[in-house]
Parts: sequence; structure tokens; C-alpha cells
Amino acid sequence: MCRVFKFGGASVKDANAVRNVSDILKRYPDDQLVVVISAMGKTTNALEKVVDSYWNKDGNCKDLIEELKVFHRQIIQELFGSNSEYISAELEIIWQDLAKKCATDPSDNYHFEYDQIVSLGEVISTKIVHAYLNSIELESSWLDARKVVATDNKWREARINWKATEQKIKNTVQDEFKSGHNIIISQGFIGHTPEGFTTTLGREGSDFSAAIFAYCLDADDVTIWKDVPGMLNADPKWFDNTILLEKISFREAIELAYFGASVIHPRTIQPLKRKNIPLYIKSFVNPEAKGSVIQSSEENDGNVPSFIFRMNQILVSISPKDFSFVIEENLEEIFAYLNQEGIRMNIMQNSAVSFSFCCDRSKIDIQKLIEHFNDSYIVKYNEPLELVTIRHYDDATIKRVTTDKKVILEQKTRETARLVMLNI
Ligand code: ASP
Ligand code: MG
Repeated sequence: MCRVFKFGGASVKDANAVRNVSDILKRYPDDQLVVVISAMGKTTNALEKVVDSYWNKDGNCKDLIEELKVFHRQIIQELFGSNSEYISAELEIIWQDLAKKCATDPSDNYHFEYDQIVSLGEVISTKIVHAYLNSIELESSWLDARKVVATDNKWREARINWKATEQKIKNTVQDEFKSGHNIIISQGFIGHTPEGFTTTLGREGSDFSAAIFAYCLDADDVTIWKDVPGMLNADPKWFDNTILLEKISFREAIELAYFGASVIHPRTIQPLKRKNIPLYIKSFVNPEAKGSVIQSSEENDGNVPSFIFRMNQILVSISPKDFSFVIEENLEEIFAYLNQEGIRMNIMQNSAVSFSFCCDRSKIDIQKLIEHFNDSYIVKYNEPLELVTIRHYDDATIKRVTTDKKVILEQKTRETARLVMLNI
């Protein structure tokens, strides 16, 4: 069987975690595996700091890179002991290139620079895992996703050129499998433009990378290995007594991911659905457990209500100053601004004389928005709010989430209730 596995940052956060990955891989001796791996632990966040420092020329780059080196060196030390020379030398080249880059002036495009630097987290983690597997005689080959995942140049949110990607992945991976390598280690999150520059696919995009590989290879299945037992009906951070969704449909999973269920990246499902490739979500702590499967049948979708919480929301209402109706022309103006500023609406609603939307508080510069619209509109806002979405709701589930809350906005369809609420 050809299977695609994805291991996120938490599953390679230290030496023990990397050993655990190898234990999981050993459970599949008869399969051909493409293993997509993220940057180790919180490396991506740390690299974002490097980018900011480089961009702002604040002189901290060197120290930040040193911290990252120390973090990875520690893992290498524990994994390889006195045999770390080869992998250390390989990584040293990457660190030195990064340091060299940071000593030059940035181009005029922050997002471009971001992709060139932040992508290194995945390159480094996969080099380490690959070297480790070979050191314990679990032969694998290392595949540079920057050479096979073809994208446009929408930095930080690159879109896939499916045709080119399919051809490249098929050729490369099949050659590897033919030459007897049954485990291929590659990176999540990254790709390349036609000119050969590195792109990234959006934060947490490694799930999507796994789906890209699976789609292009017509894989038998995909497994995302997580630190949770599978897809739960709510985030345990906000909810007691969560229930495992053992089997749900692609459609249901797309809805849940769209509304903000953070277990899988929202772009992951589409390619898998198109080729009817089942997606397993399993625990890397307890790999024997069944976990969840996302597949085509919708028969179990309504069995368990699901709750998706988005905290720290801001509700923004925009009304024409002359009290005229909000018409398409106004909406066009508002949407153009939101698009230009990269503000993602989590819910929207309009009345005769105003347009309202909720978004993550951290993703909006509210003062800038107010100034922008100041000539012709009144802008009001309300925060901090929470947005809860209930799939397959009933009166009891709505009651459960609205206790001690004031509901400010409510939308219901047959399957889904959405409530914007204030703590009281
Ligand atoms: N390392 C990237 C991130 O943290 C991609 C991923 O983990 O999926 O966003
Ligand atoms: Mg990550």
C-alpha cells in the first residue's frame, strides 16, 4: 500500500519524540510510505522572529539563530551521541547561509523574505529525522519538497500548480520506490515558484502538503499523527467530556475545519475528497488506538453534535453616515479593504443600514479600519467576544454554550447554529 503520513511539530519536538516517530514507521514494514514532517516544536514561531529581526534590522538576528541552533543541537546530541558529525555538518551549511542572508539587506517584500527563511524549519527537521532513521537502519530517502511542490508566487499562502506538482511528485516518488526505498521523508508547508524561489502554504500547512502528496500519488490513505486521540467533537481546552468522532464524511470535515476546528488544516480535505482517499487522524502517543477516519460516507455525520469555539473575536459594524441602505456598492468597498488587509471574516451579517462581521482580534488593526472608512461611514465595534459554531445542534446544546453569556448575533441553518457571545 502507498500511504502518506504527516507528523506535526509536536511529534518531533525533542529526541524522544523523533524516536517515537521511528517506532511508528516500523509498524508499517510492508508499505510504501511518504512521510511529511513539520518543523520541530515551536521552530516556525522562532523563525518568524528571525524574519522580523532581519526585516527591522534590530541586530537580534544572530542571537535568535543561535537559540535555534542550540535547540536543534540538543536534539541531535541526544539522537546521535558521538556520531553527530555528518548531520551537524549538513545543518551547519544551512545555519551559515541563513546568517549570511541576515547580514545582507532585505528585498522590499517582507512576505518573500518570510518564505525564504521560515521554510528552513522543515528542511532542518526532515534532515535530522532522515539521518536518524538511517542511523538505526530504517532506510529512507530525503525528498526536497521545494523541488516537487510547484506553486505560484503568492508568498505565505502559495497556491498549488496541480499539474506540474503531480508530474514532479509522481516521477520522483515512483523512482525512489522503484529503487527500493520504501520510506520517503519530505517537508510539509513548503513549495517553489516557477523561478525556483521557496514558498510556504500558510501556517499549519503541513496537513495540506500531506494531502498534496496523496492526491498526486493516488495514495491508499493519509494519516495525520497527532497528540490527541483523533477528531474530537470539541476542543478539550474549552470543553469537558469531549467525544471522539470515529467516522465522519469529507463534507462534514470540511465544514468543521472551515468553522475553525483546528485539528486539520481546512485545505487538506478537498484534494482527498476528489480522489476519495480516506484520512485517518491518530494519536502518536497511542498508535494502536483506532482514531478517527474521514471518508465519503455521510451516514454517521449527525450522530454527535460538534462545538467549535473561536475566542478573542471582535465584532465590527460599518454603517453609511447618511443613514442610506448598505448596497452592493458599499459591500464592494468594504470587501476590497478587508481583502487588501488580509482580514478574514469568521461570520458576517447585514441589515438595511449596516454591515457587520466578526474576525480574530489579532488579525485586524481596528484604528486603521476606522480611519479608512471615516469619510463616509460610522464604524462601531465590540470586544472581546467568542464565536461558537454548533454542528447538529438542538435546544440543549445551545443552552449548554450560552449559559452566562449574552448572545449578540445568531445565525442558524438546518445543521449549524452560530452564536457570537459576550461573557456576563
Ligand atoms: N511548521 C509550520 C507551522 O508551524 C507548518 C505546520 O506545522 O503545519 O505553521
Ligand atoms: Mg507546526
